[in-house]
Amino acid sequence: MTTDEKYMLRAIQLAKCGEANTVPNPMVGAVIVRNDCIVGEGYHRKYGGPHAEVNAVRSVRIPGGHTTLCDGQHNIPRETSEYFAECTMYVTLEPCSHWGKTPPCCDMIVEHGFKRVVIGTQDPNAKVNGEGIRRMREAGIEAIDYHRPHVPEITGWTEAEEQELVIKWAEAQACKYPCLHRLYHCPNGGSRHPAEAVHLKKMGVKPGVPDLFLPYPVGDYHGLFIEMKAENGTLRATQRDWLEWLREVGYAAYVCHGAEAAINCIKEYLSHDKT
Ligand SMILES: [Zn+2]
Repeated sequence: MTTDEKYMLRAIQLAKCGEANTVPNPMVGAVIVRNDCIVGEGYHRKYGGPHAEVNAVRSVRIPGGHTTLCDGQHNIPRETSEYFAECTMYVTLEPCSHWGKTPPCCDMIVEHGFKRVVIGTQDPNAKVNGEGIRRMREAGIEAIDYHRPHVPEITGWTEAEEQELVIKWAEAQACKYPCLHRLYHCPNGGSRHPAEAVHLKKMGVKPGVPDLFLPYPVGDYHGLFIEMKAENGTLRATQRDWLEWLREVGYAAYVCHGAEAAINCIKEYLSHDKT
C-alpha cells in the first residue's frame, strides 16, 4: 500500500462516520498529513453543517496556538500558512467550488496554503465537476485526482500506464460493478498476484496470458480477457494464438488500444450481465 493509499483509506473510514446524517449530501472524509503524521481529521457530520475539509482544518492544533480561517479569522497568520504549506490534505471527494450552505472549500484550501491535495474522486455534481481541482491547480497546489492521475499531455501512455489506469478505474467502480474487484492484472504474463496465478493455473492458462482478466461469467462467456496495447503496439503471434484459444474455450477475448478502449470494452461486456 502506498502512503497516499494509506491516508486515503483513513479518509474513507472517516467519511463513513457521517453515514445516515449527510443526505442529500454525500459522505465525505478528510485527513491532513504533515511529515507523514496525521495532524488533522474531519468528516461531513450532517447536512447543512461544515464540510469535511473545514472540520479537518479546524481540528489541527498549530504550534503557538495560531488560528485558521475556519476559526472565524479573516486573515490567516503567517505561521498558519507556513504550517499548512508543509501539509497534504486527503479528501474522498473533490473540494467544492460553489457557494452552498457554506463557502467553497477549494478557496479555503488555497487560502491556507496547502502544497498538495489528494482527491478520492472528482465531484460529478454539475456545480463542481472538476472546477475545484482546476482552481486549486491554478493556485499552484499539486492537486491529484486519485483515480485519474494528472499527466502532462505531451506523450502517449505506455502500455503499463494504460493498464494502471484501467485498474484504477475498476477500483473506483466498486458500487456500480461489484464484480470488478476481481479484475486481475497480469502484466507480461509474469509477477502475478498469487490468487490469480492459482486461478489461471487451474484453468490451464500459462504465462503469456492477456493483460487483464475478469473471471466473471456473463451470457455465454466464462469471463473476459483483454490484451492491452499502446496506441502503436502490435500483437505478437503467440498472443494472437492465446486469444484465439481463449475464444474457442468460451471466453470473451479482445485486444484494446489504450485505457479508454479497455474500459469501454469492460463496460460493454458487463452490459450483457442479466444478474
Ligand atoms: Zn465543500
